[in-house]
Formats: sequence, C-alpha cells, structure tokens
Amino acid sequence: MEGGSICSTVSSLHCDTAPLKIVRAQKQYMTDSLGVQYLDCVSNIAHVGHCHPQVVTAGKNQMATLVSAQGFVNDSLTKYVKQLISYFPDVLSVCYLVNSGSEANDLALRLARSYTNRMDVVVFDEAYHGNLGNLIDISPKMFNRMAQGKREFVHVIPYPDTYQGSYRDDDPQAAEKYVKEADRIITQATCNNRQISCFISECLIVNCGIVVPPRNYFRLLYNLIHEAGGVCIADEVQTGLGRTGEHFWAFEQYGVIPDIVTVGKPLGNGHPMAAVITTQEIADALGEYYSTFGGNPVACAIGMAVLDVIENEKLIQSAKAVGKTLLENLQILKTKHAVAGDVRGMGLCLGIEIVQDKCSRKPATELAQSIVYRLKEDHHILVQVEGPSHNVIAVTPPMCFTQLNARSLFNALDIVLSTCYQPGTVCTNIVDAQGSRSILSMEDLDSLKKENVEGPEAKRPRTSYDDID
Ligand code: PMP
Repeated sequence: MEGGSICSTVSSLHCDTAPLKIVRAQKQYMTDSLGVQYLDCVSNIAHVGHCHPQVVTAGKNQMATLVSAQGFVNDSLTKYVKQLISYFPDVLSVCYLVNSGSEANDLALRLARSYTNRMDVVVFDEAYHGNLGNLIDISPKMFNRMAQGKREFVHVIPYPDTYQGSYRDDDPQAAEKYVKEADRIITQATCNNRQISCFISECLIVNCGIVVPPRNYFRLLYNLIHEAGGVCIADEVQTGLGRTGEHFWAFEQYGVIPDIVTVGKPLGNGHPMAAVITTQEIADALGEYYSTFGGNPVACAIGMAVLDVIENEKLIQSAKAVGKTLLENLQILKTKHAVAGDVRGMGLCLGIEIVQDKCSRKPATELAQSIVYRLKEDHHILVQVEGPSHNVIAVTPPMCFTQLNARSLFNALDIVLSTCYQPGTVCTNIVDAQGSRSILSMEDLDSLKKENVEGPEAKRPRTSYDDID
C-alpha cells in the first residue's frame, strides 16, 4: 500500500539515521537486504539464537498437527507448564500462560489487587512495564512524558543507582539509604490513606540503564512492602531464562522469593508468549482466567524446545563465562577511555555508561548515540542505548554469543572509543527532508548528501563473522 505509515517502536539508532532492513537471521547474526551481516548484541528475544532449528521444527510440526485455543485437554500445555514451574521455588506453583510481557504484567497487577483488595502500586522511577493502559499508568518512563502524568494510586521510589543516584558506589550503606527513601514515600502514602497493593520491578533494572542494585537491597525492600501489606512482583521479561548467567531468574541473585513473577520476551525465542507464576493462595483470589491464545499448543511446543535448548547447549553456563570475560574486558575500556564512566551488569546483560567526564558523571547522550552508530556503520555490530538519559550502551545478545563475538565487540568498542570524542567528530543533529538525522563528521555529511543522490545501497561493504557456519 502506497503512503501507509507504520506505528511501531523502532530503535532510533537503527532507523532514524540509516534504516536497517533485516531480511534473515541465524544464531547471533542478522543479515540486511544488501547482504550485510551484523553481529546482534540487541535481540534478547532471540534467546537461544535466531531461528534455532530445534525451535523452528517444534513450531512447524505443531502447526501441522494441531492449533487450538484453551479449553481442551492439551498434553503439551501440561508438560510445558510442569517444566517451566520446575525452575521456580516450590511456593511459586501456579502458572498462567499469556501472549506478551504486557499481558503478563497486566495479569500480575490483577492478581495483586484481587489478593490484597487494594489498588496502589509502588514502582521505580523511570520503570517500564508494558504498553497496555494499566501499565502505562505504572510506568514513569511513559507517564512522565504524557499529559496524564502520575495517577494518585502510583508511588514512585528512586531506583538504587549507585553510579548516578543520591547514594553511590563509595557508600557502604547505599542499599539501606535507598530503602529508607522508599520507606519515607510509602509511609507518606499510608498517611494519606493510600493502601499498597504491590511493588513491581525488574531485579536487574534494564530499562533504567542496566542498573545492578546492591546485594541486600531487595531483601530489605521486599520486607518493607510486605510490612505495608503489599506483595512483590518481579518483572523478568528482559532478564529471565538465565540471561544473568548465574541463575535462571535475576531475583535469585538477591536471595528473595517474589510473590508473583512475570516472564516474556525470551520464552518463545521470538514467538509471542509470556507467563505469570505465583502462589496458590494469590491465584485463588483471582478466580477464573481465560486467554484464547495463551498456552496454545504451538506456543507450548516452542516454549518446551527453548527450555530444552537452554539445557542441552548449556547456554546459562556459557552466558556466565562469556559475560564474565566481556565484563572484565569492558573494565579495561573503562580505565582506558575518559568517556567510559561505568561498566556493569551480569551474564549477557551488560551496560557501558557514557559520560562527559568521570568527575561530573554527566551523561553524554549524543556521544553514546554516535558510538552506537559507529559500531553499526564501521563494525557491523548492533547495540542500543538504554537509561533515562539514553547514554548507557546496552549489550543483551542472544545467549549463544561466543568468546570470539565478545572479542569482536571489545575490539570495535576500543577503536570507536579511541576516536569518537576527538574534536570535530562529536554528533550533532541536523534536520533534512527525512526528519532529524545524526551527523558525526563532515565526512558523514558528505556521505549523507551522496546517499540522498545514490540511495543507501551505494556504500555498504559486506562483513562476515568467522564463526558462523
Ligand atoms: N516489562 C519489561 C521490563 C519490558 O522491558 C517490556 C518490554 N520491553 C515489557 C514488560 C513489555 O513486554 P511486551 O513488549 O512483550 O509486551
């Protein structure tokens, strides 16, 4: 259809400056319409690798055998739920299968509200929990930038950012101080006759810029929420299924057991499926739940194959080992480059915070974006920016990411960081006929002009990574 417009989220990096048309993908590699191959450090949904043959075959076979809605006895549903539940502490024994992370969080809120018979929600500042109306209401990342503003039943607490926040890495009491801050906000809410139903958060806070809370933080905070009469929801949509390397779920890192857990993105390796896991007691308060597509046989077959691949290919152990090496190497970049302010994360969920200088720690937003752009254009490596100032370079690749890939990323980052903040190469925005575009240097300006005449096809070389087979 001529003249149609697409309303969808697209990464500003990949689409504003030079759109990428990806036509196929395999393992941790994506190929565009020009045959250029990119190392994908972005697609955490392709958890076990793009188009993993075992997952594709499971989906295909099930599609050819039976596709049905919920309501029938379904062996693959029973088998899958049993397997998924086995990765949780015993008390989390009830599983609902839904179709997206947003649906999972929406159901988690309903569960919490039915169980507590209360309405109010405690969230981290800058959190994002999904795209349904209910979730926009509890996502400061969204409502802070919208006319509706904050609803009266939402209570926003600071997330424990020990790099940019009020209490930092040099403060051994940082966790306690952040919890005290939360206590003050919750007490204030209670004094205003508000009643806390739940606290929802990521445990490794990807959407706030890959923030790793201090070790004792969640134990203290969960106690506080329980004392206030609420339940705790762990949003594992980004971090679940072993991404953090050490454990299957990020909450395990903190020695806590949430009352409700939501899982999304990686569950179907790209196929839309998600889950909510909770206790029998909380589930009993909800009563009936029905989803037409949630837990359909195709989703269950795919979900089962994903869990099998994680086990068979020892992907969590691999994420731990590769992530450890990469984190150590990124620490070297931090000591070497003035703008690499902080390096953090766990397993294959890592962040590099780009700052103007290490003393002020002021975010260098445009510079971060130009680094991402250079990685893509010069090295064919895809990363993206996260965090409220869009200055944290996030690395969340498929779990089959190898030591060799980690080395390629390290080398490319080292080159880009060595040159990106020389005078005259810092990103500036200009506006052309296609809207705002980032221009990094006079050469870029020239090539943009050329591109407008010759089309983007003109300049792309082909890259291939050594270990693809
Ligand atoms: N929770 C978190 C932490 C997320 O990052 C997202 C999506 N990025 C969601 C929930 C919503 O998931 P979905 O887009 O699958 O609805």
